[in-house]
Amino acid sequence: AEEALINSEKLSVAGQMAAGIAHEIRNPLASLKGFSQLLKTKFDKHHDYLDIMLTELDRINGIVQEFMALAKPQAHEFYEDHDLVQIIRSVMRLLETQAIMNNVQIKLNIGSDLTITRCEGNQIKQVFINLLKNAIDAMPGGGDVEIDLQPHRNQTVAITIKDHGVGIPKEQLEKLGGPFYTTKSSGTGLGLMICNRIVEAHHGTISFASELESGTTVTVVLPVTEKSI
Ligand code: ADP
Repeated sequence: AEEALINSEKLSVAGQMAAGIAHEIRNPLASLKGFSQLLKTKFDKHHDYLDIMLTELDRINGIVQEFMALAKPQAHEFYEDHDLVQIIRSVMRLLETQAIMNNVQIKLNIGSDLTITRCEGNQIKQVFINLLKNAIDAMPGGGDVEIDLQPHRNQTVAITIKDHGVGIPKEQLEKLGGPFYTTKSSGTGLGLMICNRIVEAHHGTISFASELESGTTVTVVLPVTEKSI
C-alpha cells in the first residue's frame, strides 16, 4: 500500500485563487442561468440544447460553490464542541439512499471513548460527506465501507474510512488534494482539496493508503477533548 500525506502548500494557492474569482463568477453565472431558463419558456424548439446549457451551468455553479467554501475564512472563535460519532451518523443518514442505490453497506465501529472535538460542525460534516461519497463512487459493483474510530496519540482520534473499490494509482496518490484531479465524468476534483483545507484548519491530518483494485483507506486524525457532551 502506498501512502501520501497531503501537503499544505497546495491549499494556500488554491485558497487565494478561490477568494479572487469565485465571487466574480457567481453573478454573471446567475444571469446566464436565469436567461437560459427564460428562453426555455419562450421557445418551443431547442429544449435539448437549453437543457445541456442548464446542466453545464449547474456544473460550473457547483465548482464555484466548492471554491467559495474553500475561500471561507476560518474563525476559531465560532468553534463548538461536537461529537464526531453524531456527525458521522448524520452523514451516513444523508448518504443512505445513494449507498443503497449503489449496493453499498456502510458500517460504523466506535473504538474510542473520546470523540468530542472542537470544530465548526458543518465543515467537519462536509469532510465526511466528501470522503464517504468518494468511497461509494469507488465501488461501482457495491460492497462494504468500514468507518472506524480509534484513539490516537496525543489526545487525538483517528477516523478511518475503508472501501474495497477501484483504488488510486500510485502516481496519483501524491497529487491528491491538488485542484481538478478527477476521474469522474461529473466530478470537480475539488472534494479532497476542501477536505484537506478543513482538516488542516482544525489542526488535524488526512492521509491515504490505496492499492489498485483492492481499495482505499483514508485516515483523518483530529484532536479530541476529555469532555463528554
Ligand atoms: P471528485 O470526487 O469530484 O472527482 P475529489 O477531490 O473528491 O473530486 O477526488 C479526486 C479523485 O480522487 C477522484 O476523481 C478519484 O479519481 C480519486 N479518489 C478519491 N477518493 C477515492 C477513493 N476512495 N477510491 C478511489 N479513488 C478515489
